[in-house]
Order: sequence, then C-alpha cells, then structure tokens
Amino acid sequence: MKSTKDKIILLRKKIFYYAYLYYTLDAPLISDYEYDELMKQLQELEQKNKNLLIPIANSSPTNIVGSINHPELKTVTHLTSMLSLDNAFNREDYLKFEKKIYKLSGIINSIELCCELKIDGLALSLLYKQGKLKYAITRGDGKVGENVTVNAMTIKSIPLILNGENIPPVLEIRGEVFMKKYDFIKMNTYAKNYKDKLFSNSRNAAAGSLRQKDSTISAQRNLMFCAYGYNIVNGIEDSTTHLEKLNKIKNWGIPISNHTVLCNSSQEVFSYFNKIKHHRILLDFNIDGIVVKVNSIKIQNLLGNSSRYPRWAIAFKFKSIEKVTKLLNVDFQVGRTGVITPIARLKPIEISGVKISNVSLYNKNEIKKIGLCIGDYVTVSRVGDVIPKIINVISSSHISRSNSKKIIFPKDCPICHSLIIQKSKLGNSYCSGGFKCLAQCQQSLNHFFSKKGFNIKGLGPKMINKLIDFDYISTPVDVFRLKIKQLIILKDVGLHSANNLLKEIDRSRHIKLNQLIYALGIVGIGEVTAKLLSMYFNDIHRIMEVQLWDLKKISGIGPILANNIIMFFNDKRNNKFIKCLLNHIHIIN
Ligand code: NAD
Repeated sequence: MKSTKDKIILLRKKIFYYAYLYYTLDAPLISDYEYDELMKQLQELEQKNKNLLIPIANSSPTNIVGSINHPELKTVTHLTSMLSLDNAFNREDYLKFEKKIYKLSGIINSIELCCELKIDGLALSLLYKQGKLKYAITRGDGKVGENVTVNAMTIKSIPLILNGENIPPVLEIRGEVFMKKYDFIKMNTYAKNYKDKLFSNSRNAAAGSLRQKDSTISAQRNLMFCAYGYNIVNGIEDSTTHLEKLNKIKNWGIPISNHTVLCNSSQEVFSYFNKIKHHRILLDFNIDGIVVKVNSIKIQNLLGNSSRYPRWAIAFKFKSIEKVTKLLNVDFQVGRTGVITPIARLKPIEISGVKISNVSLYNKNEIKKIGLCIGDYVTVSRVGDVIPKIINVISSSHISRSNSKKIIFPKDCPICHSLIIQKSKLGNSYCSGGFKCLAQCQQSLNHFFSKKGFNIKGLGPKMINKLIDFDYISTPVDVFRLKIKQLIILKDVGLHSANNLLKEIDRSRHIKLNQLIYALGIVGIGEVTAKLLSMYFNDIHRIMEVQLWDLKKISGIGPILANNIIMFFNDKRNNKFIKCLLNHIHIIN
C-alpha cells in the first residue's frame, strides 16, 4: 500500500504533467473536471499532512501559477507578477471567501464587490511604455511568460498606441485573449477539412492561436482581447476603486466587458451569478464563471496576495459543462456521400439544459485517438457550448474497464451490405454501394431537391421515401420522368397535390448554375463554393472538363476542395448522370 507521502509525490507529478500538456502544449489529456478533482485531492492531502511534505517554492502545483513556458517561444519577465485566481465551486466556497476578506481586512462595514465575467481564454499582459505597446506576454509561470508580441499585434482590439490622458509611463494591462464561439467552430471545421490540429475547446484554440510561430496564422484566427485590470510600474495609483481603474482602461482605448456590476451583499452576488449562468448561452464567447473582486483599492492592498492568487478576488465557477457518463453502444450511420460515421449511444445526460444521448465519433482514427471501448465511462462536453463531443475515457483506479468491449468497425455497409472501403489515411470509411445503398440514395435525393438545390416544394424526405418505396425513383433524373398516374396511387396523395408536385417539378427544370452545382453534392462544396464555381466558369460543360490548374486560380478553393471537384467529374458515372440530367433541365442565368 502506498504511504501518504508517496501519494502526494505521485499526485504532484501527475498534475505537473497534465498542467504541462494544458498550458504549454494546449493539448489537455484529461478534462478540467478531472484536473480540478486531482488538484482538490492534493490540496486536501497537503492540508492534512502539513508537516509531511511542505509545498515549498515550486515543488507543488498547489503553490505555483500555470506551468513552464513553451521551449520554442522566447520569454520575458513580468514587471509585476501575474497571478491566477482562487476558486469557488459552490455557494459555501464563495461565502468562505467573503468571511475571509472581512476577517483579514478587519473591516466591519459592508465591502463593495465588483462582479465581472470570467472569460474562458488565456491571460495576457500588455506592457505599454510611454503609451506604446512594447511587449505582449502570456502568464507563463506568473513571473516569466512567453513573448507573443508580434502575434498580439494582429489582434484588432489591442491598440499599438494608447489614447487619452494620464497614461502611466510604464503600464501593464492585464486581460483575456479569447476566441468567439462562431470562430472556434469555423476554425475547427476548417482544420478538420484540411487535416490540421483540432482543438478541444475555445480556450485551447485561443491559446494555440496566440502562441503560433507564424503571426499570419494568429492573424487569421480572429482573436479578441478584453482587459480586466492593470498595474502601474514604479508609479502611484490614484484610482480608489477597481471600477474606476476599468473605466480608465476603456478611456485609453482598450475594450473592457460591459457586463460588470457592483454588489453589496452575497445575495446580490448570487443573483448576478444566476443571471449570468442563464445568459451565458446567448453570449458569443465562452465564460466559465464570474470573478468577484473587492472594489476598494485600499482594501485590496490590505488583503494582498498569496503565492498563487490575490486574496481580494475569487473565480466563482459554473458547474462544469463536462459530464461523465457510460458508453452503451456504437452504431454506424451511412451519410449522403457514403461516409460511415460511428455514433456513440450514451447513457443520457444533460449539459447546459440539453439532453445528450448520441454523439458522433467522426471516424476510426477518432476512436483510436480516444482509446474508446463499449462500456467505458467517458467525459462529454459541448464544443463551443454547442456540439456534444466525447473528450476522453475515464481511467481512474476506481473505475474498472475489465468489462469494456472493443469497438469493431463493420466490413460491410450496415444498410446495403456493400463492401466498406477506406479512401484516406484520415480514417474515413465509405460504403461502396453508391445509389444502390438506400441510405445514400435517400440522402442524396433529399440534398438534390432541397431548398438550396432544385428547391421542389412538396418533395421533402417523406415524399422521396414514398417514391423510393414504390421503385419510382432511384436517381434524381427519375423525378423528371414521373407521371400523374404513378403519383395518384401513392398513400395520402390526391389528384390536386399530384398535379401541384408535377407543376413544381416542371418549374424546377429551369435552374441556376450555382444551384445545380450545389445539388450535385460534391464533397465539401456548399452554397458559397457552388456560387464561386458558377461565377468563374459560367458553363456546366466547362466545369465538367475542369483541370486542377484552373481551380487553383480561384481564391476560396483550397487543394482538398479542388481535388474533390476533379475526382467527382473524373468519375464516368457522374459525367453520364449529368449528361442525362441536362436532357431534362435548362440552366438559366
Ligand atoms: P482559472 O482559469 O481558474 O482562473 C484564472 C484566470 O482567469 C486568470 O489568469 C485570467 O486569465 C482569467 N480571467 C478571466 N476573466 C477574468 C477577470 N474578469 N478577472 C481576472 N481574471 C480573469 O485559473 P488558471 O490557473 O488559468 O487555470 C486553472 C484551471 O484550468 C483549472 O481549474 C482547470 O479547470 C484548468 N486546467 C485544466 C487542465 C486539464 O488538463 N484539463 C490542466 C490545467 C488546468
């Protein structure tokens, strides 16, 4: 059996390692929930065994800020230390904080509190000398951070020169760099298409983007900055409150949050917390709680700092939006292009008010990456507060994996039993059945006649399924050959609706080129790229004979999309299909 001393040493080692992966490499291996649990365990053990292993200097993660800096980035020393925040995970924790500030400061009257959003990004210090941006430095270990000046200069909300009056000669502005939910999802979708690194959340995405070696990449990521404080170096602070300081920052031309409020009691803090908790879904960036700060600078100075955090502030965090549940089974879905997507069937859980029981596992490689087996306990979160995702498998000593079963990828399509083939090293597998496969056939037809494609009213998924069931259609061309006598014998289709449908089909024969291209369903070609292609070529026959060098001239079409287009038109079956289709339709301008 391990001694308490060994347990502490092991926990410290583990946490240091996870902190390195999270802070230094932006690639966490465990969820925040698990990390916080490990940290809590260590704190408790250290508290109860104070004389056993005193966490001196940098020997324990409980008394240091962050982690070591990235070896490939140059470092700069902060002029005033950059601390983390103490945490409250529930009302009791928060009330303990309030009690402590009254006790330590000796104040009897009500202490005014400034409540702010806790934006989920990474901390950045901006050093301005004579009002000019000299350095942008990450928090690092609190004393020395990474020099990310060139990258920070690409962030529109960071001014190179400050505005206004009374700018202290040497000033360190502190704030959060973050990525909006929309930009995060866009970036990950792009990364997925272009085989780039995927980030597990917007915080890691912001950190990874700011700490790029190539500043043009940071510039493309649309990072944002919001300040929450400053320190004057070798000067006198004349503001008397934190709120006053925030307003000064705003006047110097740096954005601050407009959700900050003053509270005078714990009840007011709790109602702000609840209001923000419900409002967070409407914000276009992620937050993981609120920050409560003593408003008076005088009382802040009385309270001072610990080695890790200021004693006058606390992060009051929302309950984790990550949850642990069991993987019950994995099913395989067939997509429009034949792509086989494994779907995890989970024991249902609720995250931010949404019930989650099915989560896409993307492909074989993702399953391998997570090391997932049926029966495992997994951490689930909602990427960008929206898309559910399995983050990792819980592999702690108290959860056994002995009954877990390996996930077997099928060799044959679960719908049409055609052979499944692997087309790329990305781990994507495809059903080789084409239109023979009912799943592909249904979804291709739905896509073809959808609003952005041929836009036929009355020809939705239900009707398409009826037509397939009666063997009337198996390709889009068949729709243009439908006769009234076929339609009126379908269940729930009268003469009137059959006539209307035929009229709609006739109307759709006159179609714009961009809608036709969209309808073809070439992998990765959505509405925008379809428009680009139609504007550039203006003729379906030219597009059908397109060469790679021609596509390279179109900005907005990268190598992968270009390759998809070439592959599609090089396929004789597609060529034959379009030629046949052109006998039934007219392309209009
Ligand atoms: P933190 O994120 O809990 O809080 C401190 C940070 O909050 C500050 O440094 C600042 O950047 C930010 N902040 C946002 N809004 C602010 C405001 N209005 N005022 C002041 N600061 C504000 O602490 P941390 O030390 O950055 O990170 C610790 C947390 O990171 C852990 O609780 C854990 O959840 C997570 N973590 C996870 C892993 C993992 O492997 N999953 C590893 C390490 C850390």
